[in-house]
Amino acid sequence: MTTTLQSLARDAWVTPDTGLVDIPSAIDGRVVARASSAGLDFAAIVRHAREVGGPGLRALSFHQRADRLKAIGAYLIERKEQLYAIAADTGANRRDNAIDIDGGLVTLAAYASRGRRELPDTKFIIEGEVEQFGKRGSFVGQHILSPLHGVAVHINAFNFPCWGLLEKLAPALLAGVPVIAKPATATAYVAEALVKLIHESGLLPPGALQLICGSTGDLFDHLTGQDVIAFTGSIETSDKLRAHPNVARHSIRFIAERDSLNAAILGTDIAPTDPEFDLFVREVAREMTSKAGQKCTAIRRVLVPRAQEAAVIAALQATLTDVKLGDPRQDDKAMGPLVSRGQRDTVRAAIAALAPEADIVFGDPQRCSGDGIDTTAGAYLSPILLRATDPMRAEKLHAIEAFGPVATVIAYDDVDQVIELVRRGEGSLVASLFTYDNEVAEQIALGIAPWHGRLLILDRDCAAESTGHGTPLPALLHGGPGRAGGGEELGGLRSVHHYMQRTAIQCSPRRLAALTGTWSRGAPSPVSNLHPFKRNFDELTVGESIETASRPITLDDIEHFAHFTGDTFYAHMDEAAAKANPFFPGRVAHGYLILAFAAGLFVDPAPGPLLANYGLDNLRFLKPVSPDDTIRVKLTVKQKSSARRPEYGEVRWDVEVVNQNNEPVARYDLLTMSARPT
Ligand code: NAP
Repeated sequence: MTTTLQSLARDAWVTPDTGLVDIPSAIDGRVVARASSAGLDFAAIVRHAREVGGPGLRALSFHQRADRLKAIGAYLIERKEQLYAIAADTGANRRDNAIDIDGGLVTLAAYASRGRRELPDTKFIIEGEVEQFGKRGSFVGQHILSPLHGVAVHINAFNFPCWGLLEKLAPALLAGVPVIAKPATATAYVAEALVKLIHESGLLPPGALQLICGSTGDLFDHLTGQDVIAFTGSIETSDKLRAHPNVARHSIRFIAERDSLNAAILGTDIAPTDPEFDLFVREVAREMTSKAGQKCTAIRRVLVPRAQEAAVIAALQATLTDVKLGDPRQDDKAMGPLVSRGQRDTVRAAIAALAPEADIVFGDPQRCSGDGIDTTAGAYLSPILLRATDPMRAEKLHAIEAFGPVATVIAYDDVDQVIELVRRGEGSLVASLFTYDNEVAEQIALGIAPWHGRLLILDRDCAAESTGHGTPLPALLHGGPGRAGGGEELGGLRSVHHYMQRTAIQCSPRRLAALTGTWSRGAPSPVSNLHPFKRNFDELTVGESIETASRPITLDDIEHFAHFTGDTFYAHMDEAAAKANPFFPGRVAHGYLILAFAAGLFVDPAPGPLLANYGLDNLRFLKPVSPDDTIRVKLTVKQKSSARRPEYGEVRWDVEVVNQNNEPVARYDLLTMSARPT
């Protein structure tokens, strides 16, 4: 059945009736869907995102948004088979779809979890330390990140209709910015089904997500400097969109992920008998055939030492011979077709364009076979392995991306040459290096790092747990310089920051503490009339403090601590040796002794609302403590944040230990859990 794809505009599903474009199945060319965005009011869509979606999202804290993402992930996991069923028509078999569908869900879950763990339960982020200007400390500066008041326009490529949509959606929503997603038309029926599931879950605030199936019309005319465009696709489209007058006029953030001629390099140290040789061959073959090579991260350039060229080609020929082509609905091991016959024509044209510089050593671009498949109506294409005839003269091999199961073996003579050849790609998403030699790894990795967003150095030690050349991970950067678009996606919270504005706030410490809810030195710290450990989480006020009594530290204390703990380091035990050390005036107290005595000075021993100490941050010992020095402590409530469980909250305390001359000897943040009233 052919469906007419709907767009989600202003929280309503809109069915187009003009300008419809047919979307063929990759398997047999039958029309599976039709799409058009004719009739959509793009100005109203943008307005809805700004006026309804943005305020709704910004009313939530980071933790609340993270919880929504988590709930959406759980909702989708239960229904993912619906997506698998329709995605087969894109040419993807179950294994390919696992990368797209499960990969997208994993990414969503990763952002939900990071949002909970690494972001505060507030509506903006405090970045870095307070900067103090002037000697008296009455004027300070601090960076904050707050969500843009615009819309994130996400334009996605055809090859990952789920992952591509979710990996952009999660960071934007976590930041608090509504999304207008525009999937590539060739696979928009999968993206539409995904958005329908998200929408029916009812877990997002109104206006937080809209979907455009079809062209973007005059959407770009309505964007301003509060908006972000995140594009994935070809270099040509990226150039066209980036050149839109509004993008330059309003300095609209434009994140681009595009063509990439990714390299895999066999190190000069590797022979066919080494395990890295087999790992290399397996990885190249997998990257050529997974998703029929339609991956932005797929290996296109296979760089091998000249002495190993014949052996690598023979091993790849043998491996590719075992690759079967098959109907993705029936065979989850065989390689499926390309997304469309049009895409196959494009890949064939790219192979033809590479012909002056490379011979085909495996496969026939015009012919292929497989059990029970229609290679005329379906967009099937054999894996094609090329061999560069004159590597140092080749140019097209480093410039033309055949976006299908195509790679070229390029022989090199030495390390300098392979670095030079890789750099000719003018910037890639990822390169992988197969070596078991530290020197080779260092030379090549540092030689090509500035041209890459990610480098995989694979050897026998890490192969079993390696996530592979082609897999972007939520925790690590995805993106690359130059030809690859210069964009940065994923990489933990880095991608959330794309949707936020960094602002330097300059003011007094008092104003800063009031604004950020975080005490810093110089802000008022009224002395508490009750030990703060006796107050529950809700009763504690940021800034309230206590100053303890003082306590001398004697030589006996130091010796006792040394023998008790076994830490008899000479700086604590041997006057002459300690004096000879450039940092100490003579024997000094252990840093840990200072910490232990500090705790002894500030704790309130009775059971109370303070439940546990779970760590220290930013510990610095600032000045040695000599025998017979005296220490005392100032303890200040620095920051309060809610915890995952409602019964308690997290309290960050500023601890400053000073000596008898009021000189700080140690500073750190103490982290505790404090009970909330039931
Ligand atoms: P594409 O033809 O450039 O299309 C990309 C997206 O741009 C599609 O959604 C397309 O929509 C849209 N588009 C095209 N013209 C537009 C216009 N004038 N205004 C607004 N939107 C427009 O690329 P593709 O064929 O889908 O994807 C393959 C390419 O993407 C390859 O080069 C691959 O390397 C690259 N890619 C890169 C990454 C990465 O992360 N770096 C990931 C995946 C793919 P329509 O489909 O409706 O035309």
